[in-house]
Amino acid sequence: NAKESGRNAYRFVTREMGTKSRDRMDLEGSLRHAIAENELFLVYQPQVDTVTGEIVGMEALVRWRHPQEGLILPSRFLPVAEESGLIGPMGDWVLAEACAQIRRWKDRFGLRIPVAVNVSGAQFRDGLLPDKIFRLLDAHGLAGPELEIEVTEGTLIENIEGATVILNALKRRGVLIALDDFGTGYSSLSYLHRLPIDKLKIDRSFIHDLSLGVSDASVPRAIVGLGRSLGLSVIAEGVETEDQLRLLRDLTCESYQGFLFSRPVPVDQLEPLLHTLANLPKTVFTPHPPAD
Ligand code: C2E
Ligand code: MG
Ligand code: MG
Ligand code: MG
Repeated sequence: NAKESGRNAYRFVTREMGTKSRDRMDLEGSLRHAIAENELFLVYQPQVDTVTGEIVGMEALVRWRHPQEGLILPSRFLPVAEESGLIGPMGDWVLAEACAQIRRWKDRFGLRIPVAVNVSGAQFRDGLLPDKIFRLLDAHGLAGPELEIEVTEGTLIENIEGATVILNALKRRGVLIALDDFGTGYSSLSYLHRLPIDKLKIDRSFIHDLSLGVSDASVPRAIVGLGRSLGLSVIAEGVETEDQLRLLRDLTCESYQGFLFSRPVPVDQLEPLLHTLANLPKTVFTPHPPAD
């Protein structure tokens, strides 16, 4: 009954909050050392053409190997990083590591697909971000379009003028720009038109809904149509089933990312796959066991 579940809900919330604040203090202390101690690493998730099955890109995602707690996912430590200001050095590390990895892959496999890096609102408030990125591209001899930056609508809306300056600077150098978790924020069609955006990433909640039997495809269909009329490419996140993939193909959504093809995996597990990219004809990729 309502009264009982209400009381349980209350108890649940207070216990959660107590755990969280202690958790945050502990994590903040150890997060401070995580970069210097080499505890952060990147995993990569392929992005795949819905029709040909070819890998057309990759997204880098940060992980933290905590000495006592084991693997910690970004949903737990990014809020701590953002609140403590540690997101600055952490974000710098992610960008530097991703660029170094693109260079290594180019040298070993002749990689010719872009690698996407997530950039949070806090990083995006730093006007020096484009210069940092350009220095990394120069240091590793990379062209702008070999790197893609993923931002959410929320990040853009927070500071639309600053964001416009940053995106235009990145675009002058050819860096690709993707709008992450698209459809969940406050989209304004006018800024979509004005900003130099290359790609819309349909949020995985809409893809999840596709598999509920109701198969309400109206939002993904609308986003694909929007992308087409604005000349943007469209990718679906969180594709887990063949049914979802089939629907996306029917909607003419050009690419997807999700557990169906591969989980995000560490570099060593990706390399067999990159071999097949370099040495045509391609062989079928067998997904590796979960990395997280
Ligand atoms: P995101 O950028 O939207 O990344 C996609 C998330 O969906 C990843 O979670 C990925 O592991 C997960 N995912 C991929 N395919 C599937 C699927 O088929 N099903 C399901 N259920 N999930 C799938 P992850 O790696 O835990 O990252 C969560 C969020 O943390 C990211 O969402 C991004 O906003 C943020 N993040 C991750 N790495 C970084 C980073 O290096 N820097 C910054 N600033 N943020 C990051
Ligand atoms: Mg992303
Ligand atoms: Mg996303
Ligand atoms: Mg997300």
